[in-house]
Amino acid sequence: MSPVVTHSDDIPVVVEPTKVVNTPQIGDVTFRTLPDEYFRSRLSTTAKNRAFDGIRSVLHLEQRPGIISLLAGKPHSSTFPITSLNFTLRDPVDPTIETPINLSQEELDLGLQYGPTTGIQPLIEWAYGLQKAAHGRNEGEGWSITIGNGAQDLIYKAVTALVNPGDAVLTEAPVYAGVPPMFQTMLCDVHEVETDADGIDASSLRALLENWPTDKPKPKVLYTVPYGCNPTGMTATLERRLKVLQLAREHDFFILEDDPYHYLYYGPHPRPPSYFALEKDQLEIGRVIRLDSLSKILSSGLRLGFASGPNVIIKAMNDHSTVSNLQPNSLSQILAVAVLSRWGYDGFFKHSERVSQFYKTKRDVFEAAMRRHLSDVAEWTSPEAGMFMWFKLLTGSEGREGDSDEIIRTTALERGVLALPGTVFFPNKRKSAYVRASFSQLGEKEVDEALRRLRTAILDSR
Ligand code: PMP
Repeated sequence: MSPVVTHSDDIPVVVEPTKVVNTPQIGDVTFRTLPDEYFRSRLSTTAKNRAFDGIRSVLHLEQRPGIISLLAGKPHSSTFPITSLNFTLRDPVDPTIETPINLSQEELDLGLQYGPTTGIQPLIEWAYGLQKAAHGRNEGEGWSITIGNGAQDLIYKAVTALVNPGDAVLTEAPVYAGVPPMFQTMLCDVHEVETDADGIDASSLRALLENWPTDKPKPKVLYTVPYGCNPTGMTATLERRLKVLQLAREHDFFILEDDPYHYLYYGPHPRPPSYFALEKDQLEIGRVIRLDSLSKILSSGLRLGFASGPNVIIKAMNDHSTVSNLQPNSLSQILAVAVLSRWGYDGFFKHSERVSQFYKTKRDVFEAAMRRHLSDVAEWTSPEAGMFMWFKLLTGSEGREGDSDEIIRTTALERGVLALPGTVFFPNKRKSAYVRASFSQLGEKEVDEALRRLRTAILDSR
């Protein structure tokens, strides 16, 4: 691999990723991991220049035994009006069984108070355990975890930690519509990477990178949603993941693995491993920043997610928090821990299995209605995770690609059905014949009626 010159920093830094690897010994296996110095060289100017936070950086000292703290401006909890919090918890296997939970005074006090920037320790420990159980990743391998107010908060912090205004970046296309605006407001050079039913088209990504102009710095990040993608519903195959990971190493970029639908997988087993798991399987780590979300599996209103990635990058994200939202919501974290610690990992995985089956049934109902109403006017691939159906309207004349925008925004809306036209999911806002429909909420009758209306909208537009 050739040395990488990063021009986006004030002073260009030359780092040779393969020459400067550490070889930590974990158990009896030797891993190759990029050193902190390399990650520091890849940080954005914003991240490098974050001013030291004199309060939050010493907050943990309050925990020292015997210390009398005159430090933080914490309000006194006796002035808070909430004095107890009770809720009822569903059993992960049999949802008819409900258990009353009363938060202890200690839990309540922690939940109502400011807390650590990285998130509360029991939730972080739970997240480490989950990464081990789900991805085979152990604490102490040069990566760490931080909790955020949902994955969205963390994606933004990861992007800000790495990307400078004007940098080139890669996103899968179509892409989750919540991400391009981050890059666009930084006037980034956003390159769309084509996807199909197997995930990112690795050969077109390779062609893009191999033909990259020599006078332009290569992209630093690739954003992807690997299971039950929003909007396409696709789950990337193992073969594609391996190729993309290989390209990340060859061309020196980070993979932002945004995986909120991981626990909503209902496709064939075994499922392909995550990028986060794969890089460890290959004994070469440090390329993946993984974003998990509790939104789809516990509650989206709790606003909780966590990021797992190289220590230096996670630290830069924490430094961001100290000047944006200080910390993830304490009460949400306490509630999440109250649930997750009672369930244990076994309960969590059982709950996840039940939720996945719920969405599988929803998908089946939706697809059956699609076959009834849209089989001659649309094409689609059945999703294996998540809550989205991505389908192509066959409206283009003489085999040309149609445009779903007018049909969805105007005709379908007039007929009383609301969906999203494909163009919303392309950073360059190209025309698209595709439509994204979410099947998470509706019952059988409403789905049938929605697709009947959509059919008339499509036919009327011809
Ligand atoms: N990424 C993707 C792909 C999503 O679909 C969503 C939610 N729509 C998010 C991130 C945001 O998740 P969270 O609620 O954890 O912020």
